[in-house]
Amino acid sequence: MFGLMQERALLISNIIDFAALYHADTEVVSRRVEGDIHRANYAQIATRAKQVACALDAWGLAPSARVATLAWNGYRHFELYYGVSGSGRVLHTINPRLHPDQMAWIANHAEDEVLCFDMTFLPLIKAIAPKCSTIKHYVALCDANAIPADHGIANLIDYESWIAAQSAEAAGYRWPTFDENLASSLCYTSGTTGNPKGVLYSHRSTLLHAMASAAVDSIGISGKDCVLPVVPMFHVNAWGLPYLMPMVGAKIVFPGAALDGKSIYELFEAEKVTFSAGVPTVWQMLLAHMDANNLRLSTMRRTTIGGSACPPAMMDKFRDVYNVKVDHAWGMTEMSPLGTYGNLKVKHLAQDWPAQRAVLLKQGRAVFGVDMKIVDDAGVEQPRDGKAYGDLMVRGPWIVSEYFKGDGGRILDSEGYFATGDVATLDPDGYMQITDRSKDVIKSGGEWISSIDIENIAVAHPAVAMAACIGLPHPKWDERPILCVVKKPNVEVTAAAILAFYDGKTAKWQIPDDVQFVEAIPLGATGKIQKNKLREQFKDYKFE
Ligand code: AMP
Repeated sequence: MFGLMQERALLISNIIDFAALYHADTEVVSRRVEGDIHRANYAQIATRAKQVACALDAWGLAPSARVATLAWNGYRHFELYYGVSGSGRVLHTINPRLHPDQMAWIANHAEDEVLCFDMTFLPLIKAIAPKCSTIKHYVALCDANAIPADHGIANLIDYESWIAAQSAEAAGYRWPTFDENLASSLCYTSGTTGNPKGVLYSHRSTLLHAMASAAVDSIGISGKDCVLPVVPMFHVNAWGLPYLMPMVGAKIVFPGAALDGKSIYELFEAEKVTFSAGVPTVWQMLLAHMDANNLRLSTMRRTTIGGSACPPAMMDKFRDVYNVKVDHAWGMTEMSPLGTYGNLKVKHLAQDWPAQRAVLLKQGRAVFGVDMKIVDDAGVEQPRDGKAYGDLMVRGPWIVSEYFKGDGGRILDSEGYFATGDVATLDPDGYMQITDRSKDVIKSGGEWISSIDIENIAVAHPAVAMAACIGLPHPKWDERPILCVVKKPNVEVTAAAILAFYDGKTAKWQIPDDVQFVEAIPLGATGKIQKNKLREQFKDYKFE
């Protein structure tokens, strides 16, 4: 016998309708690429999102047509999130940090028909437009007078004129209803090997992900929060925040292109931000700015850190100096992205801080809806004892089932699990700890060394700005770790001093064999260290 409850489709448009009705005057603030601060509210955003939908209708764009964006976090990008997906088209967010050839490749692969871009990317658009064979319309996210006369792009219109033409139409517009399993947005993986692959989210997966993120032991923001998403809307939908924030009616502060410590700090204070989210590299810039200028945070109390492991020194600094709680989270493009979230259980509350800290530094517990297991090379499940490690596998309703257009073939095991490419432990309480990407793990004399552990110790050294640990071929041990270090400006430190810093902090055999000082550590389009490039750079290295 079936249950007798209403079967109402989970659609992205439901979220913006809800926000417009119940949080109409809640503010959406943006630092624009034009340089000024723009203020709007959910009611206005919802109206303009409908104008976007009508403008796409007017162009005759078919359902599921792809509309691409190359844009920072801002209100116009946010309106596109709803106007494009809400009207039944697919929002394809392109990462502007990719190589231009890769962007053109992605736009062609996705068969994008429209490309909406921030004016900062005009030179980039000029360079790639001739290679993008499917794009029929370009929309500059600005008003008419911000477009230079010699822009040189065919079929270009400014966003404000484009949507203004639809004000009358949009007034009577109702969002269409359709199957919740239809595609809503598309995001390509950063593709360190081979071509990037498309992850095609659905309305259903997006709403379930947002609802799971809203749980208190998860991102758990509310209508009392003011949220500044530093994590970009061009990378895994800014971790789903553009859906979660209006779902709970939080005030939004979009930082635009200015992600330096000073600009972020100013917005935190001016807008009374309470919660933020981003990768460790952006927080490094903020902490450096606040440290150098002896600043304090008056309202900011919590941030989610993920995308790369949060160094313990960063969690400590936020807590001890700035009174900010760091929530460590883990996920990936293929998971919408949320997989695990760090929080204590009742039994931890009576423990002292060092014990709690050890729990919180792990990547967190599975969010309800995500199943996880770790397996060995033969696919055999490993114990959840916090010691055994294995390849981390996941399944759930907001996890990829196959890549766009079937690229990469079958990607699930016989039980429906997807291999994350991460190596991890799972403890009896369910806390997961990443030890490495499977391709970055260092295999020394049959034992594994976690490069993340080695890096975490290094960045706690007062002279180290950034560190990356890689394994290099070794005649006796198979591989041995070396540490690449970027020094803080105007400080002197020797390799021996950094190696001595490891004494007592890790097993002797895990201490790197050498420290190499480098000018910079290569970062990929999503801010992750590109260890393959470092391994290439040191391929002729000889151990003594
Ligand atoms: P992406 O799909 O670009 O978001 O990258 C996903 C990958 O980032 C994961 O598979 C992990 O390797 C890494 N990652 C994400 N969050 C964390 C975290 N908290 N700690 C360590 N690695 C992380």
